[in-house]
Amino acid sequence: MNALALIVALFAPAHPALKPSIQYTLRVDSSDLSGWSVEIRLRTTSDTFRLAMAAHPEYDDRYWRYVTGFSVESSAGEATFAKVDSAVWQVVAPSGAVVVRYRIALPSTPPAPPSAQAQRGAWRPFLTPTGGLVGGPHAFMYLLGSERAMVGVMLDLPSGWQIATALDTTSNSHWFTAPSAAALMEAPILAGRLRVWRFTESGIPHRVVYWPLRNAATFDTTAFVSGIQAVVHQTIALFARAPYKAYTFLFQDGAYGALEHSSSVTLGAPSADLARDPHAALAETAHEFFHTWNLMTIRPVEYRDIDYHTQPPVSSLWFSEGLTMFYADLLLRRAGIQPSDSTRTAHLERLMSRYVANPAYGRFSAEAVSRVAYNADPGALGDYSASTHLQGELIGTMLDLTIRNTTNGQRSMDDVMRLLFNQRRAIDGHVIEQAVESVCGCDVTPFFNAHVRGATPIDFNRYLALIGLTTRVTTGPAVFNGEPERDLRIWGWEPQGERGVRLVISDPSSAWGRAGLHSRDQLVSLNGAAVATWPEFRAKLQSLHLGDTVRIQVRRPAGPFEATVIVAGFERPAVRIERLPNATVAQRRLAEAAIF
Ligand SMILES: [Zn+2]
Repeated sequence: MNALALIVALFAPAHPALKPSIQYTLRVDSSDLSGWSVEIRLRTTSDTFRLAMAAHPEYDDRYWRYVTGFSVESSAGEATFAKVDSAVWQVVAPSGAVVVRYRIALPSTPPAPPSAQAQRGAWRPFLTPTGGLVGGPHAFMYLLGSERAMVGVMLDLPSGWQIATALDTTSNSHWFTAPSAAALMEAPILAGRLRVWRFTESGIPHRVVYWPLRNAATFDTTAFVSGIQAVVHQTIALFARAPYKAYTFLFQDGAYGALEHSSSVTLGAPSADLARDPHAALAETAHEFFHTWNLMTIRPVEYRDIDYHTQPPVSSLWFSEGLTMFYADLLLRRAGIQPSDSTRTAHLERLMSRYVANPAYGRFSAEAVSRVAYNADPGALGDYSASTHLQGELIGTMLDLTIRNTTNGQRSMDDVMRLLFNQRRAIDGHVIEQAVESVCGCDVTPFFNAHVRGATPIDFNRYLALIGLTTRVTTGPAVFNGEPERDLRIWGWEPQGERGVRLVISDPSSAWGRAGLHSRDQLVSLNGAAVATWPEFRAKLQSLHLGDTVRIQVRRPAGPFEATVIVAGFERPAVRIERLPNATVAQRRLAEAAIF
């Protein structure tokens, strides 16, 4: 039996009607964990075809850079290939059975995010003797023109490794299928020595998987899993149904961050953090899980099914990210789990304080901030920086209060989310606006013009007054850990393919902005000493004291520039939410329903 016949035979018992014509084998050799090999067996109908590495819309890690040893083989004649784009390989071979092989050589040090955390990003592949993360766009090329074809995946992994993935199972525990190339990319594979728990919600199986480091701290796994189940319960209760047949949480020790998929999620959850608090990763878990609906299913119009080109800007991320933040907080509270910043009021005070402290929100609309939230270089907003998560969460909060008020508490943002989920159409600002209007029976066009398409800062008091609340804003010296905070509102990054550091000014009224520095200036030296990396620059900034004088030399297209900055403290506004003395009973009821 040749390998192709074997493949078809293995699938036969579970799926007698299916004969996948794209078969992947991903092999991890325990004696060489520097990467893995991929073999693609294809049955082609043309003598020319193209294979591409997909670009993830949010985290385009460009793993085409790590493809080595690409080769192609055909038993029917000569087979050749050429790279026709950075992420695309063109193969010429007689039609019929063709085998493509390549290896992904993992980068030795993953590119550090701007915040330079020592840990690995939970969505990035890795291999260790006790397990690793493989698959998805970091591993598999897809056949252009056959994106809708079902594919088979065989995993050849070190002995004893368990497999956790959202790929469809077959009767063979190492064989999987995906109904399309996009589904293949949406199903990362966590394998190794895993801890696994299962529960059912609304009749749907859910699996919680944890990959521990060798020296993992022990934690209360019962509380850990029951917290996740409570979030799942609340989320399904909100939407009334789930968009998946089964769901897998892929938690990893020694990692940070997370990435949502259509029926799974990769999450960093250090065991030391979970030992301190078994719900330490729960807010992030709730956020990513909510994305299964709001982003993966309620999709922005700009999202493609699968593509190897970088995702073009997305204008509604304020909704996809911001409302996901809104619900991550709310669903935890509905589940009876107190998030770290204690009350919903305190949570909103913190968000509003950040909002009023940042001039970007009076300068860039929610849609403008959305468009640079993914795949844009730092400094994309010039000398401002803004969070689509924060801006969107506050917009969502004000819309929720508007709906509750106009419907006398009968409806809320929950109804908007359900409507958008059931509509099954891609969203943009107008679709969201229509959904809000049909739920509240009110006119929110002025709101969307002002805050979504326009950059008018939100007047929080106007909306809080609807539930009998108001804000009090006080401004005082910024304080950190009880000490006057230094104005270090400057940072740097190292652009790919360029030597040195570029500056990012996050507020033009900071000491650094007032001294004439701008985002994208190329850093030359600090107090006469050359600075080549962002960690080096950060260390020098951190060592500054109040009153120090700093000379910063930069290079820009117009020529060299030197700025002198005296390190000083700065003022920061703080927002408090208070009850209006004349709040009515009806307003108090609305506030209670919104968990204020
Ligand atoms: Zn998110």
